[in-house]
Amino acid sequence: MKRNIRLSLGVETLESRLTPTVTYHGGALMPHVEAQNVFLGSDWSTSSSLKTTKASLDSYIGYIVNSPYMDALTTAGYNVGRGTATAGVVDSINITKTKYLTDSSIQSEVQKLITSGSVAAPDANRLYVVYVEPGVKVRDSDGSTSVSSFLGYHGAFAGKTAAAKSIDVRYVVLPNPGTPNPTPSSQGFASTFQELTAVTSHELAEAVTDPDVGYKKLGWYDDTKNGEIGDLTDKLAILNGYTVQRVVGKNDSPLSIPTGTNQAAVASSSASTASQRAASVYVSIGSFGNGSSNDLFTFSTDWGSSYRESIFVSSGSWEVHYYGNWRY
Ligand SMILES: [Zn+2]
Repeated sequence: MKRNIRLSLGVETLESRLTPTVTYHGGALMPHVEAQNVFLGSDWSTSSSLKTTKASLDSYIGYIVNSPYMDALTTAGYNVGRGTATAGVVDSINITKTKYLTDSSIQSEVQKLITSGSVAAPDANRLYVVYVEPGVKVRDSDGSTSVSSFLGYHGAFAGKTAAAKSIDVRYVVLPNPGTPNPTPSSQGFASTFQELTAVTSHELAEAVTDPDVGYKKLGWYDDTKNGEIGDLTDKLAILNGYTVQRVVGKNDSPLSIPTGTNQAAVASSSASTASQRAASVYVSIGSFGNGSSNDLFTFSTDWGSSYRESIFVSSGSWEVHYYGNWRY
């Protein structure tokens, strides 16, 4: 489902994790995803910085679909695994930035690219990952928008192959972070690229385990919490230098990603009271991670509720973010 915008600090009480709550509902899966990036908007072909971003996103998608990120889904028993990626394409349409770009117009555009043979042909494993150019606000069919509701989403529609045969078309939409959409920092990310890779991983994991949400029969879905596997945690991890979002296993616990993450014990931490939650907490720890500037360190506190803190290490200083665990 949607990777939602963080609006406020919320509290969710701890609960039993013993009973599997993410269950299979009989719908389609994408066992070996075939991803292809679609860069929507003419800015992707005119801006030199966006060309660089495009190349980085192509490298990223090529990596993640064939990485331990997908192995974690296999290990969790979701019956999906590693896949492949095809080089991305730029669709240099002019997008009117004063208006909302609607989900239906994105679907139409993806269909046009399929019909003209501009993208790889749709099939049961094909996933088009649509990156919208900067400055564009996106509106979904339910009226929710990238300005106030979501950072990304995935979906499916009844499409046609280039030979006009009926086929289900699966896609992901990533509005670009920043005005008129929320800034990366407001969402807990150090950069636009970090936000894009994290949200893409969320939507990728959900698309392969529940491709037809809102369209046909569900795949893997948690009825008790009304969410897909990316919706039930927003913990981050660093994988091969990329910021990715972790997803949950069948019991709603965040999956560990086999490599690329490291752990170290907290040596000490300063006391913090409930009233200090919105302020800073200073911790000193032993060595951890691989020493790179974007190692991510997370820990839990015992304030009577479960909280998540992300600490970004940057140039020897710690940037601490507090987020409550809340449902979305
Ligand atoms: Zn989601």
